[in-house]
Amino acid sequence: MLVIGAGVQGLTSGIVLAEAGVPVRIRTAERPRDTTSAVAGAMWGPAMLRPADRVLRWVTRSYAEFTALCRDSASGVHLAPGRMAARFDLGDVVPPEAHLLDDLRKCTPDELPEGFVSGYHATVPLIDMPKYLDHLVDRFRAAGGELVVSPVPTLGEAVAEARVVVNCTGVGARELVGDPAVHPVRGQHVVVANPGVQEYFIELTTDSEFTGYMPHGDRVVLGGVAVEHDWNLVPSRTVSEGILRRCAEVEPKLDGAEVRDEIVGLRPGREQVRLEVEHFEGSRIVHDYGHAGCGVALSWGCAFEVADLVGA
Ligand SMILES: Cc1cc2nc3c(=O)[nH]c(=O)nc-3n(C[C@H](O)[C@H](O)[C@H](O)COP(=O)(O)OP(=O)(O)OC[C@H]3O[C@@H](n4cnc5c(N)ncnc54)[C@H](O)[C@@H]3O)c2cc1C
Repeated sequence: MLVIGAGVQGLTSGIVLAEAGVPVRIRTAERPRDTTSAVAGAMWGPAMLRPADRVLRWVTRSYAEFTALCRDSASGVHLAPGRMAARFDLGDVVPPEAHLLDDLRKCTPDELPEGFVSGYHATVPLIDMPKYLDHLVDRFRAAGGELVVSPVPTLGEAVAEARVVVNCTGVGARELVGDPAVHPVRGQHVVVANPGVQEYFIELTTDSEFTGYMPHGDRVVLGGVAVEHDWNLVPSRTVSEGILRRCAEVEPKLDGAEVRDEIVGLRPGREQVRLEVEHFEGSRIVHDYGHAGCGVALSWGCAFEVADLVGA
């Protein structure tokens, strides 16, 4: 079986298939650490995507896997307390998957930074993506999988190689599949040396600029921006300055933190996630792309559904 893509979707699907005994080859245009997945913050959190019923199933399944992975420090996954807050009233109704979080509670007014009016406190899995992707590659290879850096120019070439193909190309699906519905939503992070931050913070908003930070041991990943239809992969100094300023306003310890890196990734935006079988030139292609800003949080649930669809 051929999986195209070695971001979080391709690697997780590859693992589930390989661990079920299927011989799997992954072909990828980029090394895992050079993908969008490597840029993600990343947190498991509520996923407001469509199709809502399937997304709820995927995010719930993934939560179980991530909480189990927390027990292995080499995985790059750990549980962290923190706040999800908004500059408007979030009300009392939370997304159904938030009920998985045992310690979910409303923030008291004095727990909210200036300018924020509403928020929730909860412990969630945080995923240190570069480390986590290395862990996934090791686990995939340990299960007998083969990973090669080798771009796939056409779906025709893919189905000539394997009768079952899993397409996990993220925003690359726009070109490979010719799907105009998938488009880039540009994100940028600033990675700083950790000045002692233990808790995460994420602003809930639909604005293109927001505030968020996630600690991973000796570094903190700061965000954020979400710019639709922007393909630019070069970090912008102005955007980084805005991120640093907003994060320091919420967490003063971050003021003047040593900048280690500025990184950009293109979220695969789509009106809804595409996870379905296409019959193509006598072969089957399972498309699994378009996870927007939630591809990590949905990854295990999607991978198990990919395996179900191919009958593994
Ligand atoms: C700044 C930022 C913050 C984020 N934060 C979070 C978060 O906190 N939580 C969360 O759940 N999600 C988050 N996301 C979203 C998440 O990163 C994506 O949804 C996820 O990485 C998509 O994974 P993927 O494997 O589908 O795509 P990608 O990681 O983009 O991988 C695509 C793969 O396909 C390969 N490919 C593409 N075309 C071809 C081809 N023709 N031939 C061969 N290979 C090809 C690429 O080389 C790559 O290996 C964030 C994203 C960004 C940018």
